[in-house]
Amino acid sequence: MTTSDNSSPIEPLHLGPDNRFKFKCHKGVECFTKCCRGINIVLTPYDIIRLKNRLQLSSDEFLAIYTQPQILEKTDLPVVTLKLLDDEQSSCPFVKDEGCMVYEDRPSTCRYYPLGVATLNYREGSDESGFYFFVNEPHCRGFEEDHVWTVQEWRSNQGVDFHDEINAAWTELVVRKRSFPPNMKWTEQTKQMFFTASYNIDKFKRFVFDSTFLSRYQIDSQTQQQIRQDEVELLRFGMRWLRWLLFKEGDFEVRAEVEK
Ligand code: SF4
Ligand code: SF4
Repeated sequence: MTTSDNSSPIEPLHLGPDNRFKFKCHKGVECFTKCCRGINIVLTPYDIIRLKNRLQLSSDEFLAIYTQPQILEKTDLPVVTLKLLDDEQSSCPFVKDEGCMVYEDRPSTCRYYPLGVATLNYREGSDESGFYFFVNEPHCRGFEEDHVWTVQEWRSNQGVDFHDEINAAWTELVVRKRSFPPNMKWTEQTKQMFFTASYNIDKFKRFVFDSTFLSRYQIDSQTQQQIRQDEVELLRFGMRWLRWLLFKEGDFEVRAEVEK
């Protein structure tokens, strides 16, 4: 799977939605599952929700067992990557001889592969416009197969569109933070809040419902009900709140008595 490791052999080729490429991955290829070892997968907020629910773990448990912290290049933002096994090949914890054990809930980066997406893999000189590129790991034989895709067809086929739509507001925050001048830093508390709203949906839920949050912000009862029942809605809400908190954009209303 794709890597943000600087040593990876990434082609300097910018791809758009209509670019075509030849590729097919299946159990018959001699390299089957090789791309699931020695990798660096930055997880998105929706990846965590899908995986922790698949494994029936809390956010805290999933983060502790399956992730490790990393600072995302050029953003100074805390993100998490998939923690690899301590075996000879540094394997993904979910890879078995027969393939990916969490295939239906695999992370966005695995869905994009053999493409990389610029948002999570900063590249010097890029213009942040969300282009794609070939990861181009030499062991991958999928390019020798005959199926032709456009980038957009590949995205739809792999379910990336759906993931990207849910992660869109988070991605926008990451891209905006990357465009800040290096001397404009967020406080540790702000970064911690970004981390919690992004990756620890259980803790963020407790923050919204078990702290003074609802006495500080005017949140209508329908929204409260939605975000109490639906983690994806809570994630979207968290990103809207962060955008308001950080950029004063959006429709959050502070209760009048708090403003005095
Ligand atoms: S999550 Fe699945 S597809 Fe992704 S690296 Fe691990 S085994 Fe491979
Ligand atoms: S063809 Fe490429 S994507 Fe498929 S298993 Fe081989 S290395 Fe992985």
